Order: sequence, then structure tokens, then C-alpha cells
Amino acid sequence: MKLYNLKDNSEQVSFSQAVKQGLGQQQGLFFPQDLPKFSRDEIDDLLQLDFVSRSQRILSAFIGDEIPAAQLAARVKNAFAFPAPVTTVEDDIASLELYHGPTLAFKDFGGRFMAQILSQIAREQPVTILTATSGDTGAAVAHAFYGVNNVQVVILYPEGKISPLQEKLFCTLGGNIHTVAIKGDFDACQALVKQAFDDEELKQALYLNSANSINISRLLAQICYYFEAVAQIPAEKREQLVISVPSGNFGNLTAGLLAKSLGLPVKRFIAATNVNDTVPRYLAEGEWQPHQTIPTLSNAMDVSQPNNWPRIEELFKRQGWALSELANGVVDDATTQSTLRELAAKGYISEPHAAIAYRVLRDQLQEGESGLFLGTAHPAKFKESVEATLGQPLPLPQALAERADLDVLSHFMPADFSALRQFLMEQAPK
Ligand SMILES: *Cc1c(COP(=O)(O)O)cnc(C)c1O
Repeated sequence: MKLYNLKDNSEQVSFSQAVKQGLGQQQGLFFPQDLPKFSRDEIDDLLQLDFVSRSQRILSAFIGDEIPAAQLAARVKNAFAFPAPVTTVEDDIASLELYHGPTLAFKDFGGRFMAQILSQIAREQPVTILTATSGDTGAAVAHAFYGVNNVQVVILYPEGKISPLQEKLFCTLGGNIHTVAIKGDFDACQALVKQAFDDEELKQALYLNSANSINISRLLAQICYYFEAVAQIPAEKREQLVISVPSGNFGNLTAGLLAKSLGLPVKRFIAATNVNDTVPRYLAEGEWQPHQTIPTLSNAMDVSQPNNWPRIEELFKRQGWALSELANGVVDDATTQSTLRELAAKGYISEPHAAIAYRVLRDQLQEGESGLFLGTAHPAKFKESVEATLGQPLPLPQALAERADLDVLSHFMPADFSALRQFLMEQAPK
């Protein structure tokens, strides 16, 4: 597999290099040179397969022979060890529940596949994973790499801006997992990570690698569950399928659009955001104007400079699609809460991120269409806000209950690169 840097098309790398480097020069994102395409018959055949076998075929269509088929199969099997069920919410709308993995969020798919791929290709050399999280990526990455040989993980997150239970889930592990609470918002954390990747000396000393949605391996993994969703939808509904994606950094939506470019039948995608609405405003007005990030109930989507957006633009360009075909919508906190109550009244307990995707889908779905929204996290991960909104207690799933009483082991730091740099240098392999 060959990939090129979106900021400098002359920089071309293999899949392994792209996974190891994360970002290219000038912090450019890597993008696949060849976009594979399945025929309609091939898609129908793929949809007959089980999740793991099908995912292996999809991934090898991109990756090619860089990872031998048998090894890729084993890696996929280890990574995708839990289901992604489609649950009916009402007649014409269902939810793709992506939160049945160990950290109860969709980021388990990308995080675990990336860990598998890195341990496959970087066996001879220690690496340091440096990533910023608005909550769930951190947990997924921490759990995916916990105890993995030769891999150190450093995770930055905005202090006080993720839920206390989210924090417990990944800041209590210790061992090779280092967590750093930054005084600032998610964009400040993301900026620090970018600065670190620009620092050649640091990069070399630590063999730095990013593990957020920038990494191409995470994105490829996420394509697979869109196929899994369609496989569960009755054949007669597939042509009229509309998928709504709760979006922050826009990795999930990028993966969905890549699934469509492979030939998966999806009539349209909806990019649903909270009031951090840089993309909806851009689509309406044609100007890219990020505002200050506003904290919301759907905190994993509190992103005003979504880092995957250039890949979406590139894909539209390569496919000859018009950006005006990308549906979108913005939901504020008050509507998120009323939507959670509406869903509960239908017998479906959700959480703020999925509720936003549902809201925009419900408002935009046309007669005869069939809607699917992505359930990106387990409701109990947002226990405080869901309980306060619904006025009813939520039981803790076991993965959370186990960690709830442990101490947070994080380091605390200002949003200052020199402090972070010193800390990182202390972690360098000797
Ligand atoms: C990360 C996250 C999102 C946003 O996904 P992107 O790929 O960053 O757009 C939505 N919901 C939850 C629960 C998340 O953790």
C-alpha cells in the first residue's frame, strides 16, 4: 500500500511507515494512493461473510501484501473480538452500537487494530505512542497497549474536561501507560502533540508515534463496521440507507465515506455535530472559520479544528463527489437533553453523542428512507449527565465498576511545550 502526504504529495510512504510515523512532513495527513473498489457482486459476497473474515478482506484490499494474509487475519481477529450489533430504535431508525468493546466506545476498534499492527511491524524497535484525547481515544489506546512489550504510551487530556469515570478508565492503569492532565482544552492538547511531532530530536529519541484518529491504521479499521452494519440491514432497505455520524475530529465519518468509496451502498451521510460547528458552517458558507471550543455534554465532540477534514476533502475530490452532498446538522445541549428523554420514552437509553446523531437523522430522514445512527459510547460512560437528564439511575457496566475506586495516576501540567518536552525526554528508552 502506498500513501501520500496531503501537504506535500511528493512524500510517499508504505503502510508500515505511515502507521509508524502517524503524520508526514509539515504535519500532513497520509492518504491512500489507490482507492480500491468492489463490484456490486463482490459487495454482496462480502456482506455474506462473518465480521472478522469480511474485515480481513476489506483491510487487505487496502494494505495489499505488505502484511501477509494469514498474519493480517490473526491481527484482525485479536482486534475485533467483540460484536457491533444493529438495534432497532423505531420503525425506520436503528442504532449501530459500537460500544461493546473493553472501553465501551467505538475507539476500541481503531485503537486495538492499531496496537496489533504496531506490534506486528515494530517488533525490533521500542516506540512511544503520544496522543491527545477528548476522552475515549485515550481509554481505547491505553487498554489496547497496556502491557504490550516495547511500547510506552503517553496520553494528554484536558484537565477537568472529561467525565470522572472516563478518567478512571484509563488513568488508573500505570505500567507502560502515562497520563498527563493539561490545563487547557482538547485543542491545546492536540497542539502540544503536533509540536512534539515537529521536534526532530524528541521524535528520534522516543520513536514517537501518534495513535489518535490521525493514524491511518485506525481509520482503515473503522471502515469495517460500516460493512458490518449494512450486513445486518435487510437487503431491501440497503439502497435507501442514510447514516448519521456524531462527529468531532471527523475520523469516523472519513471511514464511513471510505466505505462508500469501496462500493458500500449508502444513499447519504450526515455529519452531526454539537455547537462546535466549524464543518457545518464551512459547508454552508464556504469559509473555514474555527471558533473557540465550547464545552458541551457531548465532550468527545468538543473539537473546533477537526483534524481529519483534509482527508474528507481529498476523498470528495478524488471521487468527483460534491461537498454539497454531505448532509449535516448542529444540535445544542438543551436539544441533546430533550432528545435523550425522547429516546428513553421509546425504550432506548442513549448518551449525548449518539443522541445528536439521532436528532439530526430524525429531522432529516425522508419518507421511504431507512436511517442508521452510530452509537459511539455506552450510556454509562456518561453516567452523570445521562442520569441528571433522565432522572433515573444507570447501572455501571463491569469494565467501569472495576476501575471506579482506583486512584488516578496522572501527571498535571500547564499547556506549555517545554514542560511536556522535559517529561517526555525522561521517558526516552535508555
Ligand atoms: C471520539 C468520539 C466521537 C467523535 O468521533 P470522531 O471520529 O472524532 O469524529 C463521537 N462520540 C464519541 C463517544 C467519541 O468518543
